[in-house]
Amino acid sequence: MRLVRFDGGRIGVATQGGVVDISRLVGAPDAEWPEVSSLRFIARFDGLRPAIEQAVAQGEVLPLDAIRLDPPVGFASKVIAYPVNYHAHGKEMGATYRAKNQGFFLKPPSSISGPADPIVLPDVPGREVHHEAELGIIIGKTCRSVSRENWREAVFGYTCLMDMVVRGREERVFRKAYDTFCPIGPWIVTADEIAAPDALSMKLWVNGELRQAANTRDLVLDIPGMIETASAVMTLYPGDVIATGTPEGVGPVVDGDSVRIAIDQIGEMTLDVRQGSEGGTEVFEAPYEPPIVKQELTDR
Ligand code: MN
Repeated sequence: MRLVRFDGGRIGVATQGGVVDISRLVGAPDAEWPEVSSLRFIARFDGLRPAIEQAVAQGEVLPLDAIRLDPPVGFASKVIAYPVNYHAHGKEMGATYRAKNQGFFLKPPSSISGPADPIVLPDVPGREVHHEAELGIIIGKTCRSVSRENWREAVFGYTCLMDMVVRGREERVFRKAYDTFCPIGPWIVTADEIAAPDALSMKLWVNGELRQAANTRDLVLDIPGMIETASAVMTLYPGDVIATGTPEGVGPVVDGDSVRIAIDQIGEMTLDVRQGSEGGTEVFEAPYEPPIVKQELTDR
């Protein structure tokens, strides 16, 4: 099932012709705090599924161009991100470590944006803002200490994710924390529809030029390992997001660019990039040019 949020926190199922609104079934949007209804929905999804399937079979289909898609989760408790999780990306960055022996970092949930939102570049002259195409995992249950063998119990579904970053040597979280630096979407595909998330082809284009092309089979720390590692440290909650790492081909985006990400069996989204006037900080005063060593794309 392809689950969307739209028009300010309504919840729907994407079908062939558009979206069926199932907000009534799940009490969305929450009157006091619209963002949390998506988390409640994910937590209760298994029990709601028969009623949702019935609603989809009978419901009115809203055409996609008549609605505005929101990020498919709101107010996740955390975005867990694995750095340097493809060897070829490690090579292009000149990194000697890999995610397997490094652990994860966190992006602020406020960096999440949706398929209809532009990526807004901060006002940091002398710095490049790079795209990182990644498979996003959405957690489905409250869980801790999940073993490799039981990883599927934790996963609700999958989405396309871009981990945007200001290149530099400063604190990684700081460089990856700006608003709109974690676009996800266009929907969550529930885990039952993706038998082999460890064999998905993933591509990213800027203005139609192919920049990244890889397959999740080349992940260094695999998906079971990512679930095991994250849940060894922290309780995972419904709606938590895992950014699984980017393959080779990262590069800059500038004002006016159009960035398209596509992942097999999940979907695709195209985002506009625009220059914002906020975000200037003395932290980025010194210019920096990332010494990227170009690699051959592994999955052209
Ligand atoms: Mn990343």
